[in-house]
Amino acid sequence: MTNPLYDALFAPHTGSDRVFMHLSDGGKVTYAAFLQMADRTAQALVSLGVAPGDRVAVHVEKSVQALALYSACIKAGVVFLPLNTAYTAKELEYFVGDSGAALFVCDPGEAEAVAPIAQATGAMLRTLAGDGSGTLSDLAATMPAQFETVACGEDDLAALLYTSGTTGRSKGAMLTQRNLLSNAQALVACWRFTEGDVLLHALPIFHSHGLFVATNVTLLAGGALIFLPKFDADTVLRLLPQATTMMGVPTFYTRLLDDPRFDRALTAHMRLFVSGSAPLLADTHVAFEARTGHRILERYGMTETSMNTSNPYDGDRRAGTVGFPLPGVEARICDPETRAELPRGETGMLHVRGPNVFKGYWQMPEKTREELQDDGWFITGDLARIDADGYVTIVGRGKDLIISGGYNIYPKEIELFLDAQPGVKESAVVGAPHPDFGESVVAVLVPEAGETIDLATIEAAARADLAGFKRPRHVVVMEDLPRNTMGKVQKADLRKQFAGVFQHKAS
Ligand code: ATP
Ligand code: MG
Repeated sequence: MTNPLYDALFAPHTGSDRVFMHLSDGGKVTYAAFLQMADRTAQALVSLGVAPGDRVAVHVEKSVQALALYSACIKAGVVFLPLNTAYTAKELEYFVGDSGAALFVCDPGEAEAVAPIAQATGAMLRTLAGDGSGTLSDLAATMPAQFETVACGEDDLAALLYTSGTTGRSKGAMLTQRNLLSNAQALVACWRFTEGDVLLHALPIFHSHGLFVATNVTLLAGGALIFLPKFDADTVLRLLPQATTMMGVPTFYTRLLDDPRFDRALTAHMRLFVSGSAPLLADTHVAFEARTGHRILERYGMTETSMNTSNPYDGDRRAGTVGFPLPGVEARICDPETRAELPRGETGMLHVRGPNVFKGYWQMPEKTREELQDDGWFITGDLARIDADGYVTIVGRGKDLIISGGYNIYPKEIELFLDAQPGVKESAVVGAPHPDFGESVVAVLVPEAGETIDLATIEAAARADLAGFKRPRHVVVMEDLPRNTMGKVQKADLRKQFAGVFQHKAS
């Protein structure tokens, strides 16, 4: 094989007239047309002087051309580096500079704002499409629709993907051809993807979930995508009848449940709904099954490893758990301090090992040594437990652990308690510095639509059910939790917001 990832995902579809993408306006893109666009784009990259191993930073809205650029990079041995569309020019400066990108591809509307970044970092700047002249797509259109695949090894980088920055500065995860291919193969097998599948794709393609999970699985199986620019309940409801499967973040599912048109009749033909990137609330799981008869399959992954675990396709999909390690992936729970393996059932740091585990953090050898051990185990940073049946439950982030008066408090335990209280839709628990206890618990509660929360009742329930050190000492009601584009609660923002509450009370 010359280029294992290209050979497995794309090459088998060369010249195929089957539909790869259904667009929201009714348009269709065949595999043949898509791969021709990718070939022309690969030629365009080469004509600009982009060489194998170079990084191409891509900050564009979701589009067919953007996905063709991904395919072009893989075929040309170039490292694809997609960037969150929400990033501002100031944030982009870090990513383009840190990655040493040879080419920075943006949308026309921001070309002017990011021009100084290109200048400062030495990256070439091109718009992808749309402003009429000089775009990468224009250049591609003048190129031959054939491109010789560049030979790559399994350990060569296919993508550089920055983590979401939930727990600190985003780190560039170096993902190899083997990482992405092994993950796609495991998922096609676990989730029974075939060429008959049509995946409703409303996820962004700058994140592992939308790019490597949803797209690569579809490509490997030879299925089709319903390729939507973003999640929009009206469009999803309109196009769901054409789909067989859907992948989403939990907020997609809560938004669908908010819509009375979303019901059993509309979903009867579907074979699979998958949720990931953030925890799926037990309430959502239950409400979804009651409304549609489908049990959402929850899975767990991260930028550094793509997917780690999945609930079973056949068998019990257990709410609150993320299922079993994928075939080829090992998982263990270790003491966060000593790193010694803990017995089954105990909560600790989750380590994973397997062909999905990344090569290391870009230009961060020390951080890589700290978290990626010589024997291949990667310290995920997530606290978890594995029960007697082998199901993994994510208990929270290592960095979210609250230590109060010497006791370890897992925010998830308190959140589960709070979520179950009357009138509470969801909650987030963080630690805030406390003059006596080191840290103490702050809870943010979001009310169910149209309901008010009776704090006195919740306080009484907490006194009955939770040990004193676990009880929230400061409770705030908010309309919504702060989340990023992937639906992840931004606890760092909450911690910042509440940093002074106990100091203030004590003084
Ligand atoms: P950073 O590493 O920069 O702090 P991040 O970890 O949020 O950011 P991602 O790699 O996008 O960046 O997210 C992976 C994390 O998302 C996992 O480590 C885990 O904490 C969380 N996650 C993903 N899926 C699930 C799930 N099903 N249940 C609970 N948590 C999940
Ligand atoms: Mg992370």
